Amino acid sequence: MSHRDYYNVLGVPRNASADEIKKAYRQLALRWHPDRNPDNEEAAQRFKDITAAYHTLNDPEKRARYDRLGPLYTADGRPPRPEELNEVVGSFLGGLFRRKSDSKGEDLRYTVRVSLEEVSIGAEKELTIPRKIRCRTCGGDGANPNGGRETCKICNGTGRSTGPRVFRSECYHCDGKGFKVLKTCEPCSGEGRYTHDDVLKVKIPPGVATGQKLRVKGKGDAPAGSGVEGDLFVIVNVADHPLFRRRGDDILVEIPMTFPELALGADVTVPTLEGTTAIRVPAATIPGKMFRLGGRGLPKAGGRGDLHLQVVLDVPEQLTEEQRLALARWAQNLAPSDHKRRHAFDQALKERQT
Ligand SMILES: [Zn+2]
Ligand SMILES: [Zn+2]
Repeated sequence: MSHRDYYNVLGVPRNASADEIKKAYRQLALRWHPDRNPDNEEAAQRFKDITAAYHTLNDPEKRARYDRLGPLYTADGRPPRPEELNEVVGSFLGGLFRRKSDSKGEDLRYTVRVSLEEVSIGAEKELTIPRKIRCRTCGGDGANPNGGRETCKICNGTGRSTGPRVFRSECYHCDGKGFKVLKTCEPCSGEGRYTHDDVLKVKIPPGVATGQKLRVKGKGDAPAGSGVEGDLFVIVNVADHPLFRRRGDDILVEIPMTFPELALGADVTVPTLEGTTAIRVPAATIPGKMFRLGGRGLPKAGGRGDLHLQVVLDVPEQLTEEQRLALARWAQNLAPSDHKRRHAFDQALKERQT
């Protein structure tokens, strides 16, 4: 069973005479015959459609039945099976809402690397995206602008087949384009689009995170034929930072300090997302202590996260003889009250051993 409109397939009006039908068939059969189009699947299918249309419309009895039944017509006269009925209804509805030639181009994906500083204030990135754009020479129809196209005579350029409502679909002879290509467009080789390194400015909003997708509408591939461009999805990848670690909207920084600095207290220059600032680390600060700079983290709804500075002890890996002696001398003179936690620990150990 064919859903093709046989009149449309042969390109003849619904009141065509038997002679007109014969003539149309001969011309089309000659053009699409498999012997003339070896290894061409499309030609083979067309030849089948043309032959089926001709065998029906050339027989007055079959033609009368076809005119009456439309898409439910079967060549052997049997009633249509339920699944065939469903298929007809389905293709009818599909044809109403969708035209084959109105497609959407491919969506594209592109990963962009951003720094934490860029996450902090947002950024505008210039990206070079190789994408298929609509051919500027032919406007996308693939025909050479110098006499390369001819209005389709069957549908008079509408791209739609005529006939009963249930059959109204794209014109069989021009695939719904409304014209025929006589000479292909050179820059796009008739495809209507070509690959081009498109330079795009893409806004990265503040606060983005790795894996986030930013959609740039209409900057994917142009479709082959008519239709709309696909979309570009820019996928964010936030680069690791030598100083900052991210915890959601908060930023964590480790501040390596020496033992004398922690014992005596020190003014320390620390990094922020915007640059640097100075903090006072008081005397007798223990390693692991956190200092919080409120509102100096990453943007979030209604404000910003915090910047956490964590003090860590940087123990020297090597000492000079002089330094070693100085430390040993200092350790000899330690009183229990100098290291209260260590003293309490030693006491507890002693109790377990007695
Ligand atoms: Zn072109
Ligand atoms: Zn047409």
